[in-house]
Amino acid sequence: MKLYGALIGDIVGSTREVHNEKNEDIVLFPSGSDFTDDSVMTIAVADKLLHNKLSSQGSRKSYATWYKQYYRRYTNVGYGQMFSKWAESDYYYIQRSYGNGAAMRVTAIGYACKELEDVWREANHSCFYTHNNHEAKVGARAIATAVYLANKKESKEDIKKFIEKKFKYTFVPLDHLRGTYVFDSRTSYCVPPALQAFFESDSYESAIRKAISIGGDSDTIACMAGGVAEAYYDEIPKEILNRGKGIIDIGLKRVIEDFNNEFL
Ligand SMILES: [Mg+2]
Repeated sequence: MKLYGALIGDIVGSTREVHNEKNEDIVLFPSGSDFTDDSVMTIAVADKLLHNKLSSQGSRKSYATWYKQYYRRYTNVGYGQMFSKWAESDYYYIQRSYGNGAAMRVTAIGYACKELEDVWREANHSCFYTHNNHEAKVGARAIATAVYLANKKESKEDIKKFIEKKFKYTFVPLDHLRGTYVFDSRTSYCVPPALQAFFESDSYESAIRKAISIGGDSDTIACMAGGVAEAYYDEIPKEILNRGKGIIDIGLKRVIEDFNNEFL
């Protein structure tokens, strides 16, 4: 059952966003662990893809509508101020955020699309109203591409090379990053380390632990790393999956089930 990987990353990171634990040896679900905006928006994208099929007319506006709907259904889960203002408005005005909010929610696009061109188009559409900004769109396309290629069982080395070339990202070993890495939610600061956590991992669990170990915007970094890692490794250890499922709202779980039935 795919998509849980991204949500569990978010949950594991949820208690570490403010108080970073720059360590792989952590308790995965300390008290207070909960799903946040990263999970809710990931499911908003999945729900959009279920109801407003690929490349249909009005796709950009459809993403925006689903974001607004989910924002209203799940309030107070840690949305950024700029996004909240947009989501609360009755208008579809265009925001140009360069924040990582566009890249954190695209896991489902990597599964739903048949061709890479579709992945890139959908990722761009998903950004149109909230992150109409080059940096944010690049991040969204990069994460969706990584999920797509990981799900096709391309090697980590090939995924890395492809993303380096296509999106002009530089990947730095986590050991070199960790000492100076701080909280900054801009896309180009968060997406490469999240992918690097996956590249250095040897299992879903280790990808999550490595993502947390960098510090910074932990829930979002672990959400992105977890989404890609699940696509690659297929399996989330039962114990971790069950803990995650116990925390995730039933409404979100239903969409995950429908999405898997439709696309996987
Ligand atoms: Mg969050």
